[in-house]
Amino acid sequence: MRKIPPLLLINIGQLLTLRSTSDGPRRGASLSELGIIQDAAVLCLGGKIVSVGTTKDALRDPWLKKNRKKIIEVDCRGRVVLPGFVDSHTHPVFMQPRLVDFEKRIAGANYEEIAEAGGGIRSSIDGVRKASKAALTDKVRAVLADLARHGTTTVEAKSGYGLNLESELKSLEAIRAAARGWPGTVVPTFLGAHVVPPEYRGRSQEYVDLVCNEMMPDVAKRKLAQFVDVFCDRGAFSAGDATHIFAAAEEHGLAIRAHLGQLSETRLGALLRYRPASLDHMDYVNDADLPMLAQSDTVATLVPGANYFLGLARYPDARRLIESGVAVALATDYNPGSSPTLSIPMAMSLACTHMKMSPAEAIAAATINGAWALRMADRKGSVEAGKDADLAMFDFTDYREIPYWFGANRCVMTIMNGVPSGHFSS
Ligand SMILES: [Zn+2]
Repeated sequence: MRKIPPLLLINIGQLLTLRSTSDGPRRGASLSELGIIQDAAVLCLGGKIVSVGTTKDALRDPWLKKNRKKIIEVDCRGRVVLPGFVDSHTHPVFMQPRLVDFEKRIAGANYEEIAEAGGGIRSSIDGVRKASKAALTDKVRAVLADLARHGTTTVEAKSGYGLNLESELKSLEAIRAAARGWPGTVVPTFLGAHVVPPEYRGRSQEYVDLVCNEMMPDVAKRKLAQFVDVFCDRGAFSAGDATHIFAAAEEHGLAIRAHLGQLSETRLGALLRYRPASLDHMDYVNDADLPMLAQSDTVATLVPGANYFLGLARYPDARRLIESGVAVALATDYNPGSSPTLSIPMAMSLACTHMKMSPAEAIAAATINGAWALRMADRKGSVEAGKDADLAMFDFTDYREIPYWFGANRCVMTIMNGVPSGHFSS
């Protein structure tokens, strides 16, 4: 393990601490509490945050006075600093962008026509099956570096374009190999149940059995994933398939999450019994399920990048969820088919303009509630003593500028587990 030098950030114009106000994910009014400290300082030692306060108090600290020469000091010059983003939903293991889909969809083609033209998920599956582990690792490594440049310090990364034992294992191994060289935190997810692969068309039950009885035991044995995910929707897997997969995951000691309600409504009762960490997309949710969801610790993770990129008029109804007391997170859903963006600030901007979330709500949803969606809120998502030293600095003086100036990256520094990177010099 490399030694991490002590790090002191001073003269932070606005420090968004997101410090805890209660136990559990943020809901309702608490989603907009950012815990802002003006003219703030943060001290990090050994990759952890050890103190958070004002610059004045930090510089008066006797220990700091004595050790100041040994500490890397960053003068933030009045800029905004917040917890590094927790992107709790990405699909980074693929080889090529889906440019055929992009152009065909613009020209008005439907899903079937795109598939016939050689596009669609099939092209991503072919790409991953043919690729070497080294080539996939390089792709994931590049994504991680790019995420960090945009302020993301923790990322959930799914397999799901291999869809056979060999290629799913290869995908998860690529995630693991890429994660080793990155100072941030990667949470791997096994998404064998992404779609029914072409060779199992019409035999989806057999494929679910393969996922549960052959792939999952191997994934668990090799400790290649923390979560199991399933795409439960029209044209993908049924709620019955999902409960089957959840039960198998439970048996193998893996936590669960699901893609749900992107295209159609699925009732939540049977699924919530398995206590999934997160249900993602949630464009379609039955009113009658809201109270049960609000009482659970399951987070509803909204991914407006997909709605934007597919050119949909309709976005997830964030206000209805927030006002019902549901815990809401925001993620990119980075993937080649429907959301080729790894910018959390872009997702936040879409959440503000299309889902009527306030800038403060969008920030809490992409930090502390993202951490809850990964069951890592004890370590991630806020700037508090004892937590991992994950921070992002933006070249702004007001946090509301992060979703406001959309489409350009203004993150100038990222600190991941105490390791700084960026192009900012104080
Ligand atoms: Zn997804």
